[in-house]
Amino acid sequence: MHKKSATAVVALIVPVHNEEAAIVPFLSAVREHTDGLKKSNVAFDFIFVNDGSSDATLDRLIEARQADPRIQVIDLSRNFGKEAALTAGLDCCDADAAIPMDVDLQDPPSVIPLLIEKWREGFEVVLAKRASRASDSLLKQHSASMFYRIHNWIAQQKIPHDVGDFRLIDRQVIEALRALPERRRFMKGLFAWVGFRTATVEYIRDPRVAGRSKFSGWRLWNFALEGITSFSTAPLDIWTYVGAAISALSFLYGLVIIAKTLLFGIDVPGYASLLVSVLFLGGIQLLGIGIIGQYLGRVYAEIKQRPIYIVRRKYEGTR
Ligand code: UDP
Ligand code: MG
Repeated sequence: MHKKSATAVVALIVPVHNEEAAIVPFLSAVREHTDGLKKSNVAFDFIFVNDGSSDATLDRLIEARQADPRIQVIDLSRNFGKEAALTAGLDCCDADAAIPMDVDLQDPPSVIPLLIEKWREGFEVVLAKRASRASDSLLKQHSASMFYRIHNWIAQQKIPHDVGDFRLIDRQVIEALRALPERRRFMKGLFAWVGFRTATVEYIRDPRVAGRSKFSGWRLWNFALEGITSFSTAPLDIWTYVGAAISALSFLYGLVIIAKTLLFGIDVPGYASLLVSVLFLGGIQLLGIGIIGQYLGRVYAEIKQRPIYIVRRKYEGTR
């Protein structure tokens, strides 16, 4: 096993999308915290996945690679999204363990030695948990906490609160993830789904070093929907109960109307209740159809069997 072999190789997997200003600070911060680990027989690979950047990100990466051949670059043919980029990185990784990291230094490299220490104790997954989200806006903090609560309430597979993609995963976990065939990849959910022995270390999340966040409110909302529809069918199941409850209530209301008519004769007014019930039921039906549509869309995307990403070129090896 790798723990006994002379040198263990750990790959940092870094998806980048328009991050020209972040690459140099990232590399120097990472080197500062990883160079010292040579003594304890850990070597590092840096796998950057260029996720369709339209700025000078690729040039910066190729320059960095000339100085340091441990750097590999996978250049995707367009922007496939962070989840697909991470998948591409993991697919190319032949190291003993991998650590997915953001390039903006929001995942602090000082945590890397802690992750490796736990791994050497025998844990196959070491999560880096945000002890504080103070660097996020209040809206993002609240919506994130709501997402975790709702997700874990209705999904069979719980995902840990405030843990992003930043974590260490052992070779075995990488293999397990590779064996998952789904096209639309909610990585946090997949990481949780494969299981394995897990430890957690805590860290404080820093603000971004350079550039802007790529995740707007709308993109985060879609990301949350992706997570929930990937790992739970509760939104589909719920309509059985809503439908049953509404039918039962309507039946009772029907009985009341019949009784009233028999006792007090025909009651002409009723326009308001009629309109309200028609609109209410119409709304419920549209919502139900929309939710079925969400799942149908996922089935459609899976069934097309398209690749998760396309590589334009790989820059690897010593040349
Ligand atoms: N990223 C990517 N593809 C995308 C969007 C983002 O590879 O389509 C990368 C980005 O370059 C960064 C990481 O994913 O390394 C996290 O993005 P960001 O910092 O914008 O997210 P936030 O921290 O705001 O959630
Ligand atoms: Mg960030």
